[in-house]
Amino acid sequence: MTTDDPILQRLAALRAGDLPVRGGRTMAYVYDSGLDGLEELASAAQAAFAGVNGLDMTAFPSVVELENDLVRRATALLGGTAGTFTSGGTESCLLAVLTARRHARAVRGVTEPELVLPETAHAAFHKAAELFGLRVVSVPVDPVTFKADPEAMGAALTDRTALVVVSAPSYAHGVIDPVREVAAEAARRGVLCHVDACIGGWYLGHLRTSTEAFAQDAPEIPEFDLNVPGVTSLSVDLHKYAYTAKGASLLLFRDAELRRHGWFAHASWPGYPVVNSTLQGTKSAGPLAAAWAVTERVGSEGYAALSTRVHRATHTLADGVRRIEGLRLLARPEASLLAVASDDPDLDVFVVADEMRGSGWYLQPQPAFGSSPANLHLTVTAAVAGEETVRLLLAELEKAVGRAREAGPVRVDPAIVEAAAGLDPDALTPEEVEVALALAGVGEGGRLPERMAPVLAVLQALPPRLSERLLPEVIGRLYQT
Ligand SMILES: *Cc1c(COP(=O)(O)O)cnc(C)c1O
Repeated sequence: MTTDDPILQRLAALRAGDLPVRGGRTMAYVYDSGLDGLEELASAAQAAFAGVNGLDMTAFPSVVELENDLVRRATALLGGTAGTFTSGGTESCLLAVLTARRHARAVRGVTEPELVLPETAHAAFHKAAELFGLRVVSVPVDPVTFKADPEAMGAALTDRTALVVVSAPSYAHGVIDPVREVAAEAARRGVLCHVDACIGGWYLGHLRTSTEAFAQDAPEIPEFDLNVPGVTSLSVDLHKYAYTAKGASLLLFRDAELRRHGWFAHASWPGYPVVNSTLQGTKSAGPLAAAWAVTERVGSEGYAALSTRVHRATHTLADGVRRIEGLRLLARPEASLLAVASDDPDLDVFVVADEMRGSGWYLQPQPAFGSSPANLHLTVTAAVAGEETVRLLLAELEKAVGRAREAGPVRVDPAIVEAAAGLDPDALTPEEVEVALALAGVGEGGRLPERMAPVLAVLQALPPRLSERLLPEVIGRLYQT
């Protein structure tokens, strides 16, 4: 951003302290197509529709047209006959759960609804359960493949189950759950089944249309979409592998009759008649217009080409990681995500992440949970796919591993773990919170430490419920004015 405007200059200065959103070195949170002019197109479309209010489709009929176009494009790729444009994956997942809860009550008389999740399901589903009053039934996954176990999932279904969820792929491990098997169990019991394809839907859907580009070594993509019998809804984010501006996702349904259960209508007040298809009221049509413009420009063939690039880069990276001594992949990548763990007790992956960050690369730390050890998450996007970028990344990673091994792993004082085990997260006093944060090394000054490995080490040594009590305290201190 070059500008004379001092206000814009101040914004630019603030951005300089963030991770870069382009260039492929930030391997979580951001998605760069690497295509020239795409971001400019998205920005122009977004600006043109920024003030349009998607709250009232009768006043702004353009939003209906744009949304119908996007849903048509998505259902042609992933099945289903109806859909809703939302602000992101979390909102799509929330609405999938809300729709299922209301459907279960209306159609099956379920008053104490349950949500059956593999323990690898995205956090958004736990948020949905908490917001909308469902009981989560969390089912362990296969400890080797990290995939949902269809038998265990089937056994968890009851007359109270409103929805069962599978991922294609899971965020943490990048593996595709057995969609066909779980959906069949759900259908047998008359339960709805949601596929969380937030991160992988657009990528995998287009990859499978481009298999001719691979000749003999075409990737095997298991069935995962709304064409699988028993699947009733599917979420797919556009602000991930459709490479559009943030604030864009789709929730697709088997049919409009199911979709209707998630909508909210209100005529019992003195104001305008309300029909909301999403959680928001007033909403800018900017992200919708940007998504429409970007998908129109890139097109099916363009996305197939981008998916092919990403597929190749993912596998080159995976092979490279396997060759670095001390590192291993937690799972065989089935999409565009890698989970990289250490098989050497002297090598701490969180120290590797700090070292990488020092050299300009962001790999996302994932603390140990259940059968999943501490690891680093890498989202591979088209901007990473350049041969030079992959080569550089592997070279830097090897060096970072060397430095991390030299530095040694972070060791958590057993006294901290013992003290933590005695704390009741629901009954912590403000003083106990202060003590706990000081022990974790994040007590002072409302700033995050330079190096995250020591904090992450403590965090993963705490019971998750205690972490859930303390994390908002840490972040709350950043927002103290
Ligand atoms: C990203 C993601 C979500 C949540 O989406 P947001 O756009 O971050 O709100 C849900 N599920 C999976 C598998 C994801 O990768």
